[in-house]
Amino acid sequence: MITDIKGLHHVTSMAADAAENNRFFTDTLGLRRVKKTVNFDAPEVYHLYYGDEIGTPGSVMTYFPFGEMPRGVRGTGEVGVTEFAVPEGALSYWKDRLAAKGATGLTEGRFLGETRLEFTGPDGDGFALVESADRGRTAWTGAGVPEDTGILGFHGARMRLRDSAATAELLTFMGYQKDETDGAVTRYRIEGGNAADTIDLEAVPGGKTASQGAGSVHHIAFAVEYRAAQLRVRDALLDTGYQVTPVIDRDYFWAIYFRTPGGVLFEIATNEPGFDRDEDTANLGQALKLPTRYEPYRGQIEGHLPALGA
Ligand code: ZN
Repeated sequence: MITDIKGLHHVTSMAADAAENNRFFTDTLGLRRVKKTVNFDAPEVYHLYYGDEIGTPGSVMTYFPFGEMPRGVRGTGEVGVTEFAVPEGALSYWKDRLAAKGATGLTEGRFLGETRLEFTGPDGDGFALVESADRGRTAWTGAGVPEDTGILGFHGARMRLRDSAATAELLTFMGYQKDETDGAVTRYRIEGGNAADTIDLEAVPGGKTASQGAGSVHHIAFAVEYRAAQLRVRDALLDTGYQVTPVIDRDYFWAIYFRTPGGVLFEIATNEPGFDRDEDTANLGQALKLPTRYEPYRGQIEGHLPALGA
């Protein structure tokens, strides 16, 4: 069994409009944009990262805003709900704030003993805010969000799967333990994690496969502390028969990817070197950062990228 995984690292989704995406995460949710770079495989598209002050692993929501792009259709074989943790008692604030900012799909409820508020993002993205203990995390309080109310990072993620058995087995192999069940949803939780600790598997037998597009999660990344741990995880996955990519340098972390039995793309990402490797903490996310190989084309790239606003 793997013992190196510490919870979620980041969740990466697709969006249509870049400025709208930026406004929603910074102005509506009050997260900090911690990096403005490009898709390393398609430099005409931004890669935007939003999180806490330094983009602590377990807090980082990232987007590829492709511009004109059809909306995804929710279904099986994907992460259906990305969940953020907020302090106990914060949901009444968020309910008013999200409604005032025009967020849709607001649904409050109790699930597995927790109070949660589901809502949809600008492209129909499935989100929830879940009241949670702070576990030592500090919210970034941008856009006037009070300090005792702000988003602390991820709570977890919910995957919708036609058959969850093989993914459950994989999560267990990755170090997650089976927790409570409510209806079709079974929670898995990692011990000793970074507080972004839960994965919920929702079994939807016969459910229609999701169609990826704007508002869909592209992949979900799990955290390991450093590169040697990542290599241990890679070896263990290969030994179990998973097809895992070589280690890829993403400038702010090292990444490996593999497709899981339920259809969701998993990544394992290192906590090192982090988002402050190429800019000061005070100025994170302001300047356009390019991987070295694209620097010669900076003028051309900047000419094509849309304006983001603040
Ligand atoms: Zn990733």
